[in-house]
Amino acid sequence: MEQPIIARREVTKYILEAFGHRAKKKLGQNFLVDEKVVESIAAATECGPGDIVLEIGPGIGTLTQALAMRGAQVKAVELDSDLVKVMGKTLEGYDNIEIINADILKTDILKLVGKEEFTVAANLPYYITTPIIFALLEQHLPIKRLVMMVQKEVAERIVAVPGGKDYGALTVAMQYYTEPKLLCTVPAKAFMPAPHVESAVLVCERRAKAPIDVDEATFFKVVRGAFSVRRKMLSNALKNMGLTGEFVSAWLERAGIDGKRRGETLTIQEFGVLANTFK
Ligand code: SAM
Repeated sequence: MEQPIIARREVTKYILEAFGHRAKKKLGQNFLVDEKVVESIAAATECGPGDIVLEIGPGIGTLTQALAMRGAQVKAVELDSDLVKVMGKTLEGYDNIEIINADILKTDILKLVGKEEFTVAANLPYYITTPIIFALLEQHLPIKRLVMMVQKEVAERIVAVPGGKDYGALTVAMQYYTEPKLLCTVPAKAFMPAPHVESAVLVCERRAKAPIDVDEATFFKVVRGAFSVRRKMLSNALKNMGLTGEFVSAWLERAGIDGKRRGETLTIQEFGVLANTFK
């Protein structure tokens, strides 16, 4: 059955009114109503027949439909059961879509998707963007690429370079696991209802191999320690790992890193040296 394109403003408005659905702010419900943006997210996944896409927060099925029309096998996890009912209608007739009514943070993704490589596509709910990203990365899932809409400010943190105010633990984690690139910025008017912030789409290619050879647990412990306080010298910040000043001084000397520097000036390679000289 031919379904109308959900990404059109008038179609989304009609669907929301027909189901009497009021967007739930606490679940970050801002529905995309810009067909070009939806199409560019779907195209950036580069998915087609035979590919699996995990979609997080499908809402009323806007991006889900665009992905399904490309022929990909879509597994979409939506928390709001009211919206799952809506999608029962808006996505009726597509045999390559599976809707799962669940919290993505409590979902066994590997069990859902299987061990095959897959792509993640999402217009993320902004109230839990960072927990979702960390959950996806730390589980070592066979993710090939993540295409995701996030708050513009979060996108800037993810693609930041050392030395700037945006560079932090999220930057290091994303750049350790992936090669993130900004695809486009998206104005608030592309959503219904319009959020109070601008958004951006990121394409993050999963690295085949980590950029540095480290024990991951130690590496991330060091990163968290270095960013535990902003604008503080490393010699002080690293003490927050439960270490004495003497230990930290000796460690920094072994690593050949000046303790007067701040965590936000360190490259991923330098964090690697710190992790590898931590004894
Ligand atoms: N994909 C749709 C679109 O682009 O129009 C909706 C995106 S909206 C920004 C975020 C969606 O994530 C909402 O449908 C919301 O109900 C859903 N959501 C919020 N928290 C979630 C969670 N923990 N697990 C799964 N979905 C969630």
